[in-house]
Formats: sequence, structure tokens, C-alpha cells
Amino acid sequence: MTDVPPASHRGRFAPSPTGPLHFGSLLAALGSWLLARHAGGEWLVRVEDLDPPREVAGAAAGQLRTLAGFGLVSDGPVLWQSGRGPAYQAALDRLLASGQAFACRCSRSALAADGGVHRACVPGAQRPDPAIRLRVPDGARADFDDAIQGPFGQDVAAAVGDFVLRRADGPWAYQLAVVVDDAAQGITDVVRGADLLDSTPRQILLQRALGLPTPRYAHLPLVVDAAGRKLSKSLAALPVDAADPLPALRAAWAALGQPPAAVAGAGTVEAWLRGATTAFEPSRIPAGPVAAPHNTRDANRA
Ligand code: GLU
Repeated sequence: MTDVPPASHRGRFAPSPTGPLHFGSLLAALGSWLLARHAGGEWLVRVEDLDPPREVAGAAAGQLRTLAGFGLVSDGPVLWQSGRGPAYQAALDRLLASGQAFACRCSRSALAADGGVHRACVPGAQRPDPAIRLRVPDGARADFDDAIQGPFGQDVAAAVGDFVLRRADGPWAYQLAVVVDDAAQGITDVVRGADLLDSTPRQILLQRALGLPTPRYAHLPLVVDAAGRKLSKSLAALPVDAADPLPALRAAWAALGQPPAAVAGAGTVEAWLRGATTAFEPSRIPAGPVAAPHNTRDANRA
């Protein structure tokens, strides 16, 4: 794939095909779409199908169908990470050649004493297949100003250490794939759930190591239950219903801190999205967390 020219705002939604689209994913999809449209920009969809054992057959196609039911359609071809191996390999080769990445045969148990934080290979570590890690120098940190969460920074060396770019069992690590693809797709604005906030410093270090631009970041509020607890797996995984999209769109709109009245009159998805684009005020988005509707299949009654 050739690099695309820079846009003033190009956002993306990058689901992993591990199941049907749930309310948290709809929030990320709608939030990134609205921020792109509000800025007069573009919005792309990328399928993060990097890890076949975690994937559910047909989930990617189902997610794309559901997004279409919500009127959220990629402005360009959908990028599938399963086809991007050569691009990830080229990035890895550059990092290996410059000494910024290295092969590591440490076992998980050998690193357990340091809480899994890798700073140097354990002498005698001999896993047959190596993982490839990024070398993170002592004190290396990344700080950025998140558009929703505010200033955030991390001493990556101390908090996560030399992190994995390709796993010993073969798959590309999310951190490498996301950085290579955000750059290749010309993404200027990464908008996603706050559960990924603490991945961002690693991604910024990788961008620097590869000489790639750092996009702007906006991490949307986490979705919690009515008691303020992290959603249970079963509740978090409740699918949204693309056959009846307006209730879930309204619930996502409210979770983005937007006033219900602004879109109350719209009777079709197209009209709803048009009204939402006009009424949307990014500064209203809360840092979070926000409560999930009880039932995202009928969020009207939540
Ligand atoms: N594929 C990731 C997920 O579904 C999101 C990656 C991203 O937005 O950077 O959690």
C-alpha cells in the first residue's frame, strides 16, 4: 500500500473481530466518526485481525454489516491487518537493522520476578523461538495532551520495559501493527476507548523509533455499569442491534455528553447522523466513565 497524502483530519475505527459490535465499540465508532465529520474530515475502518485464535469466524463481516446499519461506512477501502504482514516485517527489519529491536528468548516465568517488565535478557534464557522486542532505553518516556483525557505521560522503560513487537509464537503485536497502519493510512486523529490510553506512550515511542509522525489522540470515556464498575464480560459483549439502530445511537450520543434534544426528532439513521453532525460539540465529551444503557438492544427504555 502506498502512503496516502495528509488530510487535515483523518480518523479511523479499528475493531478486533472477536465478536459482535457492542455498546463500547459503537461509542468508539460513533465518537471517531463524529469528530471526523465535525472537522470536515475523513473516517476509515480497519479490521484488526492479527490474532487468528482470538477471532470469531464471521465476526469481521458482522461488525462491518452492523456499522453499515448504523450508517457508519468507511470513506476508503477497509484495511485488513491480516494482509499487512510485509509492511510490519519491513518496519521490524528497520528497527532490527538500527539496533532498536532485538530477539529475546526470555520465558514469561523468567520475567515474572520483575513483574513482566523486560530490561535485559535473563542469562541462559533459551526459548526456542524468539520474540522481537523494542529496546526502550532507561528513562524513555512519552507525554502527550489527550483531547479528552488531558495531559498523560508514562515512563515506558519503568512501566512496561522493552515491549514485544512480534510474539514468539508468530503473531504481530498490536502496538507495531497499529503504529505502522495509522501512519500508512495517514491517520491524523486517533479516537478510541480510554482502555487504550496507556498503550499510547508505547505507540509514540515506536513512532519516534520509525521516524513516523505522531497523530493527535482523543480517548473516549470508559463505559461502566450503573454502579460505576467496569462492565462484566457478558454485559460488555451485549451486541447492539443494527436492525433498530436509533435507540443505540441515542444512547451513544448521551454517553458522549451531547444533549438528547438536539437529535430527538430524527426518524431515520441518515437524518439522525446529519442532525448529530451539526449539533455535535466535542468539548462536551466527558473524560468518563459513563454508564452503559441497561439494554443496548433497546436503549430507549434504559
Ligand atoms: N483493535 C483495538 C480494539 O478493538 C483498537 C485499536 C485502536 O483503536 O487503536 O480494542
